[in-house]
Amino acid sequence: MANLKSRVERLEKEQQFRTWLGFERFLESLTVEQLEELSLHWRFPEVLPEPLPKGASRLDRLDRKTLLKLWEESERDTARIMDEMKGRSLDERRFHMDHQHWPEQACSTANCRKRRLDMEMKESPSAPASKYF
Ligand SMILES: [Zn+2]
Repeated sequence: MANLKSRVERLEKEQQFRTWLGFERFLESLTVEQLEELSLHWRFPEVLPEPLPKGASRLDRLDRKTLLKLWEESERDTARIMDEMKGRSLDERRFHMDHQHWPEQACSTANCRKRRLDMEMKESPSAPASKYF
């Protein structure tokens, strides 16, 4: 039974990893405008973009060990953010989704995703969002 349980756990972990990888590739296929809609309002594009061809994602150039490390970092970041969100108001959470920092921290191009997106939107609204990953 222990073998079966550990095998199931391994398969579940592999599935979670593949889901993460697929979603990361999906995010890279969005334009800046679409990424903003998704991150701010959780609205997906009406017409989903074609999946990135093999080799078109920055992730395609990484080996499995590096990808697993990125996934684990992403899982830790998600857990940390979920923890930080406890006790925050809805407005503060919206601010964080928009800026990727909390309201008490000043906006700068180094820490603020909204500022970077605003600058990019002025220059080329249909540019690929992949440069922000
Ligand atoms: Zn900001």
